[in-house]
Amino acid sequence: MALVNPFRELEGAPNVYTTGRTLMTVNAAPGVNVYGERLVEFQGTQYRSWDPMRSKLAALMLLGGRDLGLDRSSRVLYLGAASGTTASHVSDVASSGIVYCVEVSQRSFRDLVGVCESRRNMIPIMADASMPEGYSHMVEGVDLVYQDIAQRDQAEIFVRNMRHFEADRGMLMLKSRSVDVNREPAAVYADAKKELASKGLRVREVVDISQYAKDHAAFVVGP
Ligand code: SAM
Repeated sequence: MALVNPFRELEGAPNVYTTGRTLMTVNAAPGVNVYGERLVEFQGTQYRSWDPMRSKLAALMLLGGRDLGLDRSSRVLYLGAASGTTASHVSDVASSGIVYCVEVSQRSFRDLVGVCESRRNMIPIMADASMPEGYSHMVEGVDLVYQDIAQRDQAEIFVRNMRHFEADRGMLMLKSRSVDVNREPAAVYADAKKELASKGLRVREVVDISQYAKDHAAFVVGP
């Protein structure tokens, strides 16, 4: 009897798979897991479960974020890669592309380097994301900027990188409490949207992902 594949590609999200309730990516480093996630084998392909409580990008996708500009051949600049949890799934998705991973904390960077060693398309860069000129010589041809850093000037840093690398697409995971702890998140998101628009970026979608990541919204930017 033929086995039915329990995983189908998520519509509008190439190379991301779902069983309906959970997300999976095809493991680009078979046999290796990054943060204790489940590895599931089906007919010679190994899938890695993608936890939305640990990854804001998974949360965004589960909440309906589509047409994010991330696909098999994407060249991604990932700002705030930490120890590589989400970046490793981005590396699975962009299987024929590249993921430049910028991280400023030495401790996280050590773990990140370990994750990058088992993947051919992940490049670790120890740098401060607020100064793109400091790492632009290591980065080539970016089409998507993904940013997840809890800083007061998150939106400004994002704009600076989008411009510097002339990226068409972007995703900003904005933490309202890091911008202003005393304001309502909705007001902080509205201001951030205006700020991005005033700098010439088109915000296609803002998705509140707070059910998975407290005080966060995902801003999807594109042409
Ligand atoms: N994106 C990661 C994930 O999903 O696996 C989690 C990122 S964590 C919330 C934020 C990271 O941003 C931290 O590791 C922090 O060290 C890093 N960070 C903060 N400010 C930064 C900066 N200016 N440049 C680069 N990294 C920064």
